[in-house]
Amino acid sequence: MSDLKILNEKSLSGPVFGSEAYKNHEQLVFCQDEETGLKAIIGIHSTVLGPALGGTRMWNYENEADAIRDVLRLSRGMTFKASISGLNLGGGKAVIIGDSRKDKTDALMHKFGRFVNSLGGRYITAEDVGINTHDMEMVKMETDHVTGIPESMGGSGDPSPVTAYGVFMGMKAAAHHRWGSDNLEGKKVMVQGIGHVGETLVKHLTEAGARVTINDIHEDRLIAVSEKYNTSIFKGHNIFEDDMDIYAPCALGATVNSVTIPMMKCEIIAGAANNQLADERVHGQMVKEAGILYAPDFLINAGGLINVYSEIVHYDRAESLRRTENIYDTTLDIFTMSDKEGITTHEAALKIAMKRVEDRKLELTNA
Ligand code: NAD
Repeated sequence: MSDLKILNEKSLSGPVFGSEAYKNHEQLVFCQDEETGLKAIIGIHSTVLGPALGGTRMWNYENEADAIRDVLRLSRGMTFKASISGLNLGGGKAVIIGDSRKDKTDALMHKFGRFVNSLGGRYITAEDVGINTHDMEMVKMETDHVTGIPESMGGSGDPSPVTAYGVFMGMKAAAHHRWGSDNLEGKKVMVQGIGHVGETLVKHLTEAGARVTINDIHEDRLIAVSEKYNTSIFKGHNIFEDDMDIYAPCALGATVNSVTIPMMKCEIIAGAANNQLADERVHGQMVKEAGILYAPDFLINAGGLINVYSEIVHYDRAESLRRTENIYDTTLDIFTMSDKEGITTHEAALKIAMKRVEDRKLELTNA
């Protein structure tokens, strides 16, 4: 049985209030529209630091429990991502159940926008897997509580290139910590998922002289990206059989789990995917014991969030990139803290992120 199945069965059966899976989530909103076929769930984990901002993912989930679990895990991760990045934002996320290549229509996105609007700004949306700037344009026609809209409409555009830049910074910091140099020339990097973020990451990596192998479920993407950046394509069934120095998960989460860790040959895990550790405690520890340096996902993939935040606070692209570049130093600090305190890198990042939320809670209580 896979880790995910175990997590589902453990966490989503039984009562909602007080259960581990729903712990500390402020709100979960189920949105349904028969006409457009919309089935969406909006998760608001926390609004302590500000409105809950997080992208919308469209995915053909096997069942509803998978969708609920995903939105719960993703929205919680957003709270910590905003916190560790010093942004005045809470954590939220939305999932739309369906195949984005087949089921997505403008009408469906409009309807989703109306649901977002009904929350009055407690949740602000943006792009995630399966969703693009055109979709956000549709949402924008229904609500102001949306970011990541096209530059032509006064927005900051697709956040993915900035996310990729931040991941690249985090990866370089990991290389520095592990090998004493952040030069990635000649390093073998496996990029799993060459979508919006993955492709730009491939660009940075090939420019830095890394030897990149790519993997995706869509053959057309593999051919296009490998031709553009002259990369190898992984054609087997199990990417972990391949020789690699760095594993960059840029598809979906939970790929670092009890099954995959024992197979891993990499020395570093640094990628864009959210919730890479299937179970943050168990697999954070397993990775540490395997001698693999894990760059915490919510820390190094925060560039896109920093960029969309600029639509709210009006700072420019240059400032967003400067703040994203800081991910390098923060990642190094997290590694040092993890070494000093004998805790996993994920725990170290979580500790810093949670402290800011707890401090703010205290301020609000004492106000
Ligand atoms: P995307 O939809 O553009 O790309 C995802 C890619 O992964 C697609 O090409 C898809 O075919 C591929 N994929 C899906 N399942 C796969 C599998 N099992 N094996 C190999 N490839 C697979 O999404 P994106 O915007 O590039 O986001 C990628 C990841 O980064 C997601 O986990 C997302 O939550 C996370 N993330 C994205 C941003 C952003 O700015 N877009 C910000 C932070 C985190």
